[in-house]
Amino acid sequence: MDVTAQSVWNNCLSFIKDNIQPQAYKTWFEPILAVKLSDNALSIQVPSKFFYEWLEEHYVKILKVALTKELGEHAKLVYIIKMENTYGNKQPFTEKIPSTNRGAVKSQDVDIPLKNKNPELKNPFVIPGIRNVKIESQLNPNYNFENFLEGDSNRLARNAGIAVANKPGGTSFNPLLIFGGVGLGKTHLAHAIGIDIKEKYPEKTVLYISAEKFTQQYIDSVKKNNRNDFIHFYQIIDVLIIDDVQFLSGKSGTQDVFFHIFNHLHQNGKQVILTSDKAPVDMQDIEQRLLSRFKWGLSAELQSPDFETRVSILKNKLYRDGVEMHDDIIEYVAKHIKTNVRELEGAIISLIAQSSFNKKEITVNLAKDVVEKFVKNTKREVSIDYIQKVVSDYFQMDVNTLQSKTRKRHIVQARQLAMFFAKKFTKASLASIGSQIGKRDHATVLHACKTVDNLSSTDKQFRKYVEDLSKKLSI
Ligand code: ADP
Ligand code: MG
Repeated sequence: MDVTAQSVWNNCLSFIKDNIQPQAYKTWFEPILAVKLSDNALSIQVPSKFFYEWLEEHYVKILKVALTKELGEHAKLVYIIKMENTYGNKQPFTEKIPSTNRGAVKSQDVDIPLKNKNPELKNPFVIPGIRNVKIESQLNPNYNFENFLEGDSNRLARNAGIAVANKPGGTSFNPLLIFGGVGLGKTHLAHAIGIDIKEKYPEKTVLYISAEKFTQQYIDSVKKNNRNDFIHFYQIIDVLIIDDVQFLSGKSGTQDVFFHIFNHLHQNGKQVILTSDKAPVDMQDIEQRLLSRFKWGLSAELQSPDFETRVSILKNKLYRDGVEMHDDIIEYVAKHIKTNVRELEGAIISLIAQSSFNKKEITVNLAKDVVEKFVKNTKREVSIDYIQKVVSDYFQMDVNTLQSKTRKRHIVQARQLAMFFAKKFTKASLASIGSQIGKRDHATVLHACKTVDNLSSTDKQFRKYVEDLSKKLSI
């Protein structure tokens, strides 16, 4: 088979697509062009320097994995930055930058194999028993206090974090439990505390780990018959940060081992920092004895930031990225994206990307488009297949039955509901909905939508179906 830049890149793309959020894929990968393949170096063209930096910062790992799969371990990636000069000069401006070389190379054109940099994240599970091993903290330096902006929504948690960082293990905030919904900064704050402690107390062993990884390590240790080594490893840590402890729900073995580790650390004046997406009272399937330990110290909540804080977070982010943007645009975005900081950042980033890719100036109108799409996309991206599955499950039939030609009333109703929700939750046309739900025409779909409307205002039982299904589909 012929291997071309395009075919290699297509394979990479399908791998990447499976592994990242659809919105991110659209924003950062669809605009890329594969331009050249020579030996094992693939050149890709990106629309701006910002774009290139973003890829390097966020996607270098997945790019590396994808490319290595395609071209072997000596795979190289070369970026070509192509931007139109917006000030009348027709000459496109091209800059070639080899991957993972930021800062070091600007004018030279040296290819550095991806292999050389960015080693795999080191597993903190250093072979136990060997005591003097240096433990990698697994902390992300970009998540520090300086860029964790303070507002009413996070004041308590942030200041408690600072207090803990000043005196790890020496305050009554032990454990410090940071809780709050997704994208509100739990992980960022947890890293910030760790980083600050490392700076103030370089001799202390700090370890950040997600509850998920912790669980995995524990399971491995049981398999390999070295559960005790696992426990000992964690008992020598001075500051243990476990992210997303709600993940331990229902995992009694891991909870048990964590209980022992926790007690040991606590008794020895070591600091424990936990994050969770729920308050301790709302955590389910976590053993009582562990829950009660969580409450020993301080539980501090992160709430959704208010408007002022959202504006400062955006300004700070833009400033750090070296991007200028009008205040009215920043305020527009801050006003419309309210629930979480991750989405807020996501929207501003797609805005920058859109504008650099389409070479459009960033205007309030562009912001409107982006915000609208962004809010819709992140809310839900349900497919017609998914809707059919949910509706069939709800009525305990299979999808084939739902699509069949039968005129049995309950099946017809299920089909009509599927059509109704497809119209409501997707952007598909009536014709396309019809062809996907049992090969019907657009008039049938239209009729279905009307019937559902009518029935839900006249038939109580039917209204309940609509409400239940709406809930199921809006998660
Ligand atoms: P969580 O762990 O609660 O889901 P994260 O810590 O991953 O949330 O935060 C999501 C994004 O929002 C991150 O990029 C983080 O840097 C940013 N963020 C959250 N809170 C703040 C804040 N107060 N100031 C600046 N950035 C923030
Ligand atoms: Mg997190």
